[in-house]
Amino acid sequence: MQSQSRSDTYDVCVIGSGAGGGMAAYTLTKAGARVALLEAGQMWDPVKDGAMLKWPYDSPRRGASTRERPFGEFDGCIGGWQIDGEPYTMAPGTKFDWWRARMLGGRTNHWGRISLRFGPYDFNRKSRDGLGDDWPITYDDVKPWYDETDKLIGIFGSAENLPNEPNGIFHPPPTPRCYELLATKAARKLGLTVIPSRLSIITKPHNGRAPCHYCGQCNRGCMTASNFSSTNVLIPPAQKTGRLTLITDAMAREVTVGKDGLANGVSYIDKKTGTDKRILARIVVVAASACETARLLLNSKSSQFPNGLANSSGTVGKYLTDTTGTDVSGYIPKMMDMPPHNEDGVGGMHIYMPWWLDNAKLDFPRGYHIETYGGRGVPSAGFMGGIQNYPGGGGYGASLKGDYRRYYGASIGFSGRGEQIPNDDCYCEIDPTVVDQYGIPVLRFHWKWTDHEYNQVKHMQETFRAIIAEMGGQVFSPMPTKEEGYGIANGGSIIHELGGARMGKDASTSVVNANCQAHDVKNLFIADGAPFVSQADKNPTWTILALSMRTSDFIAQQRKAGAL
Ligand SMILES: Cc1cc2nc3c(=O)[nH]c(=O)nc-3n(C[C@H](O)[C@H](O)[C@H](O)COP(=O)(O)OP(=O)(O)OC[C@H]3O[C@@H](n4cnc5c(N)ncnc54)[C@H](O)[C@@H]3O)c2cc1C
Ligand code: SF4
Repeated sequence: MQSQSRSDTYDVCVIGSGAGGGMAAYTLTKAGARVALLEAGQMWDPVKDGAMLKWPYDSPRRGASTRERPFGEFDGCIGGWQIDGEPYTMAPGTKFDWWRARMLGGRTNHWGRISLRFGPYDFNRKSRDGLGDDWPITYDDVKPWYDETDKLIGIFGSAENLPNEPNGIFHPPPTPRCYELLATKAARKLGLTVIPSRLSIITKPHNGRAPCHYCGQCNRGCMTASNFSSTNVLIPPAQKTGRLTLITDAMAREVTVGKDGLANGVSYIDKKTGTDKRILARIVVVAASACETARLLLNSKSSQFPNGLANSSGTVGKYLTDTTGTDVSGYIPKMMDMPPHNEDGVGGMHIYMPWWLDNAKLDFPRGYHIETYGGRGVPSAGFMGGIQNYPGGGGYGASLKGDYRRYYGASIGFSGRGEQIPNDDCYCEIDPTVVDQYGIPVLRFHWKWTDHEYNQVKHMQETFRAIIAEMGGQVFSPMPTKEEGYGIANGGSIIHELGGARMGKDASTSVVNANCQAHDVKNLFIADGAPFVSQADKNPTWTILALSMRTSDFIAQQRKAGAL
């Protein structure tokens, strides 16, 4: 295919501007590198394009979701479960949901900002229970970069000195809201651990950014840059160095290699003109999100790399995992008919329940944490999950309005987020027959949960039902049966896909080394969730950020030493 090349050669080409790519662009430009950042999505500016200050009644849809905005009309994400012209496929029997963002900053514009470090046990699970694999690095190897990430971005929380929930460098956390206080009391009575949540939102001025003013609309994109998005916090300072060339609407097709077997650039589609172009670079950092990264490597075939780039082990696309998840919600009669009171806060939970039990005494090997939702958020279309689910709720006119007022703020819900162990039946590969609108072969997913995950999710359901009962509440839905998988969410649907280019010491069983450098191609690096060896009972993005910074520091060091 005919490509137009830019004449200059960049020090580094970074693919993707989300958590991993944004951090790589930031760290590398600060370290003096000239970086070209390719982003498949469009420009997005939270100040101009975000809907933080919109009332639902400003729109005839009252904030209800659309096909393009499945998480609500005002959600700050361009993309979603389906993208026109960019399909993916599934093997027979597989249920997999893939959320993709196509915008500057990727999914960090609307993510939940639950920002947890993996703990010391999370890096060596195989040594502890014999399942999955150990990472080639330990918590102590990553700790300095977790610290730097905390300092750079800002995060609130509290030091609790729990064994596998490391402390960070925290801003003060916000006070729990009424429903969170009630949930805390009930959960503690049942023996659960409840601590202030840890979210990448600043509660005091930080690096020139204003603290949160508690509007509760974080998923719309923050106009005061008080929460973390790559768009708000990483890209602007990278641009200020004068060393960043940002190219949006640039869909990377292939990482190209020279005769020496080293990466020498990236070919991409300029979506605005539909033409093929090419960036030349001495180093390539892929951070397109775990599955897109696997896709790009598998599609980067050449005579030297017939099975895809960096894939001599045949493990690109393998060891793919997602967080396990299930939800239970209900209502609490003693929270009905509450007098109006202030429940302002951040756009996310103020309390957090980390894993609190010993798996050796349970019928599943890994833990989960609990997220809580409820309260008196700004009502929009579909809020409270359907008034007809409440006793006597529904109808028309004055009685319907009365029901809404009576029940408003009385609902509560719990979401479990647990660790899946990689298995041979969860992976992605290139579909041999389907291509996207640019002619790029698409991914085909394979997925099967095992009893480890089903039993864990059953435990979540039982626990959440017990907490709601302890609060004197009523659950909306019956306990899902074994045949219903105990209510386990589809693979991919918790949006924590990890793996697909895992790290390891052994080049025959892994794609990258402990510095996220490809075993096969020394100037190719991966800076998103693809190198993760395992999940944890934590959300992954703080670890993606810390590892991307660590990898970028390594690249800077190697450049200085003349090794790259
Ligand atoms: C609603 C929601 C809530 C979430 N909540 C949390 C949470 O509370 N805590 C947590 O830890 N995680 C959470 N996550 C997950 C979190 O968003 C991701 O882990 C994180 O964004 C991953 O970063 P990334 O850089 O790998 O990918 P992304 O942020 O997805 O960025 C990848 C970028 O690469 C671009 N790209 C893809 N392919 C190409 C290509 N071929 N060429 C050029 N560019 C390309 C994409 O357009 C995108 O901008 C949530 C996600 C969602 C959607
Ligand atoms: S709650 Fe705070 S961080 Fe979130 S959008 Fe509002 S001001 Fe920004």
